[in-house]
Amino acid sequence: MAKLIPLDIDVSVSKEVESKVFLDPDFVYLPLPKQKQEMKKEIHIKKGMELFRGMYAPISGKLASVEKCIVPSGEEVPCLVVSNDFQEKNEKLAATRKRISHMTKEAFLDSFFDEVLRQKFLQENILTFVISGIDEDPYCCNEVFIQKQYTKILLEMLDALLNLYPGSKAMIALKNTDSALILQYNNFLGMFRNIEIKLMEDLYLIGREEFLTSKLHIKENYVYLRAHELYALYLQIKKRRPVLETFVSILGDAIENPCVVETKLGTKAKELLQRVYGSDFSSYAIYTNGIMQGRVLDIERLVITPDCLGFVIMKKKNTRIKSCIKCGKCITVCPIHSNPLLAYKRGKAVRCIHCGLCSYICPSSIPLEKYLRGEKDE
Ligand code: SF4
Ligand code: SF4
Repeated sequence: MAKLIPLDIDVSVSKEVESKVFLDPDFVYLPLPKQKQEMKKEIHIKKGMELFRGMYAPISGKLASVEKCIVPSGEEVPCLVVSNDFQEKNEKLAATRKRISHMTKEAFLDSFFDEVLRQKFLQENILTFVISGIDEDPYCCNEVFIQKQYTKILLEMLDALLNLYPGSKAMIALKNTDSALILQYNNFLGMFRNIEIKLMEDLYLIGREEFLTSKLHIKENYVYLRAHELYALYLQIKKRRPVLETFVSILGDAIENPCVVETKLGTKAKELLQRVYGSDFSSYAIYTNGIMQGRVLDIERLVITPDCLGFVIMKKKNTRIKSCIKCGKCITVCPIHSNPLLAYKRGKAVRCIHCGLCSYICPSSIPLEKYLRGEKDE
């Protein structure tokens, strides 16, 4: 297994998060599918309506326009703009009264709204469900937050999966430093005897599929899910509805009251920050998706998509980039044994999972990961 390292955390960034909700944006901005598809002709949109294959309206309202926005990957994409009528008129979606564990496997597989998630359950002979309850970035806490909010629901969903796939077992991986969450799970685990908690060292990337399964010695016949995906499964299978909201962490040394906010998919980041904190933090550095893998994006045009984990808002510090001292730390730290210097010094393409560890470790503060992404200017 790759040698993973712990990260030094800025102790001025509090991780004591409040729970907040912002579910009534004026508009939502929904990235259009890359492949051309026929859109439903309705001008009046209901909440939960399928606008394109696999893309559902998070609010009810009217189609307004198409606008170019930025998504957390940094890409500029055309988005369908829906103006909110604040009526929350629903497409008819009835929660099932059936216990999930009483469903047939066929009915279970027919209940998905998210095809990518469904694909995970199509493999033959599933023996293990591996749930990662670990947040990757040190300043994002969505996974832990969701588990604290919905501990029993998640365990029930996992238990139902064990019934649907007889002979399988389940494990939930948590950081051994997340004491409050471990305690909370322990309060319920007596009712779910086939679910095991696995305590992991607090190492960066340990919750990621390749590293976690390697550490747990699981090679095949498994389904890996993050805690938020298990919750999404519950919404789709039990509540019979697509995922229309997401959870976003807002932390940083510029934030006095950090929070995890539940918001509609497609909300503009600027509107979210304004409504939650009364400020768009324009004089601060806002890292979308954390400090390690995130980037500073144009917050004005950024929309919240399912891959938006949160914002780290930091007082601007001027980091002076110095010359490479050829220490080799960036090569030693790489968990996939790549050589980031080949990208930095020779402009070569190298294999990279964009974990940001080489930039983090560099004593000269060289933003190596940017070069690996093909961005050369600071
Ligand atoms: S960002 Fe890429 S090159 Fe740098 S440590 Fe991570 S995987 Fe290795
Ligand atoms: S860690 Fe930084 S200073 Fe050291 S070899 Fe890599 S780029 Fe150069």
